[in-house]
Amino acid sequence: MSELNMAGGAGVKVEEKLYQNRYLVDAGRPHIRIHPHEVPTKGLLAMTHLCPAGCYSLADGGQVEISPDGCVECGTCRIVTAGTGEIEWNYPRGGFGVLYKFG
Ligand code: SF4
Repeated sequence: MSELNMAGGAGVKVEEKLYQNRYLVDAGRPHIRIHPHEVPTKGLLAMTHLCPAGCYSLADGGQVEISPDGCVECGTCRIVTAGTGEIEWNYPRGGFGVLYKFG
């Protein structure tokens, strides 16, 4: 993947930057849910490649699953699936979710 040159991060990969973040899990209360489906739309399927935090995956049966732990709240999945209503997206409750080390 590409490398960044941001604020002292010359040559640092995006994955290494993301690793610096911390995430407080709100156990049993995921802030993103996927509605039950048999076959995902192309947009939902694309999320298995687009999500920068790798939250989306493909189950053996072909359905898309999400584990929102580590979500950086970029909103990409919210926008990509806005027209299909396949996901329910909310911000995590106060005090939970991503904690950015670099602001
Ligand atoms: Fe992934 Fe961004 Fe959606 Fe979070 S908001 S699950 S990081 S695409």
